[in-house]
Amino acid sequence: MKTYAIILAGGIGSRMETVIPKQFIPIAGKPVIMHTIQTFRDYDPKLEIIIALPDAHVSLWKDLCSEFKFDIEHQIVRGGKERFFSVKNALERVPNDAIVLIHDGVRPLVSIKTIDRVREKTIDKGNAIPYIPSPDSLRVLNDNGSKAVDRSKYIRIQTPQGFLAKDIKEAYNGEYKSTFTDDASVLESLGKTIELVLGNNRNIKITQPIDLVIAESLIEE
Ligand code: C5P
Repeated sequence: MKTYAIILAGGIGSRMETVIPKQFIPIAGKPVIMHTIQTFRDYDPKLEIIIALPDAHVSLWKDLCSEFKFDIEHQIVRGGKERFFSVKNALERVPNDAIVLIHDGVRPLVSIKTIDRVREKTIDKGNAIPYIPSPDSLRVLNDNGSKAVDRSKYIRIQTPQGFLAKDIKEAYNGEYKSTFTDDASVLESLGKTIELVLGNNRNIKITQPIDLVIAESLIEE
């Protein structure tokens, strides 16, 4: 089955328009998202790669591709107001009989093993998402403050998340809900059971400036 990777690279209307979005900031010699795309290409030279970019960043991306002589083949689709709409736009380019891996562009440290575990389980079971256990203690907030919970019952979810294209496209035809924080939550709205595979600890999501420092030192290691 043909496999597509959708790599998400940002929404419209950043609060700080003058600042380059994190996915375009160079770390260890090239922009974050180029590391991400390279790992998917290294995993499978035949993978179809689709990147979702807001209109406002397409020319920046093209300039970066020439500056860094980045020649990995990919399609570009328009990003949406929410992550949900960026994924929905990208899914329009994916045929129903494919497998699709949906990944946050700001996770450049995903391992080839994680991508492979997700894809293999998707082939076997119809979907798969990577997780890692929580090393921190966890509490739930309530009206009285907070209460300790059993940490072994909670896991942290990463990307890429793998799906049969026909299923995830159907799920994304439904209405947007603000509780959709990843693609598994969208698929779950169809009543499907979600399959888990082990992720990798280094697969951090770059969200704050400190994450850029951590990611750079991990890539250079
Ligand atoms: O905002 P969040 O942390 O969920 O972003 C996860 C990924 O989704 C990031 O790689 C970001 O660039 C992407 N995204 C997107 N379109 C949006 C919002 C986020 O492609 N509208």
